[in-house]
Amino acid sequence: MIDTHAHLDFAEFDVDRDAVVQRMRSVGVNNLIIPGVSPQHWHKQLAVAEQYQTYFALGIHPWFCPEDVDAAILALTSKVAALLECPRFVAIGECGLDKLYSSTWPQQLAFFEAQLTLAKSVNLPVIIHSVKAHPEVLACLKKYQLPRGGVIHAFSGSVEIAQEYIKLGFKLGIGGLIMNPNAKKLLKTVTELPLEHLILETDSPAMTPINVAEKRNQPANLVLFIDKIAALQKKSSVLISEHLMSNVAQLFDL
Ligand SMILES: [Zn+2]
Repeated sequence: MIDTHAHLDFAEFDVDRDAVVQRMRSVGVNNLIIPGVSPQHWHKQLAVAEQYQTYFALGIHPWFCPEDVDAAILALTSKVAALLECPRFVAIGECGLDKLYSSTWPQQLAFFEAQLTLAKSVNLPVIIHSVKAHPEVLACLKKYQLPRGGVIHAFSGSVEIAQEYIKLGFKLGIGGLIMNPNAKKLLKTVTELPLEHLILETDSPAMTPINVAEKRNQPANLVLFIDKIAALQKKSSVLISEHLMSNVAQLFDL
């Protein structure tokens, strides 16, 4: 398995990053994708990705929009060009829109549209953060029509919203929220959608599943979600893990 969204570079893992990677591999999660969040974070992100030979994406997260939009996009464009031939560089992102951070909305929109343009020009999929902004994100995706689509990370929406994204060539990133019996809408979505539209992620160190004792989330927890999806879809865990892994390989061309 591959954890398609883990911020292994974040400070929460500074004290025991080796052990976290070892634990992840010992439970069968062989690798992960570290999403980019901002120009200040790229250096450490790329160093961690190099050290553990993980996959990575490059992008600007809506929570970390730099003041100077043009300079940051220029920096992103040149970083992307420099690393384009690296086989572990698999996507643009994470990028997107977040209405809980509404004070930076104009910058968020500018960064999101610029990153969709960039993804299209270099023919990479995108990793999208969409919080309380599905109509706006869908409008942008309809406008840009990305040939390789991408993933709506930490998806928690309805079957209807999921179908809108699927029509645009997107997969849904399913994480720790499925362990919460109160997440009724998401549980219904995961029960009803065909498996080919789902991929797995932890969003470590955030989004810790409800039944895990340690407050910090980590990539090894990904295996919990396989049994949960198997139970929801009434299929075997082996079938679920094989199918979801082939979705990841297809989306990110691994
Ligand atoms: Zn993230």
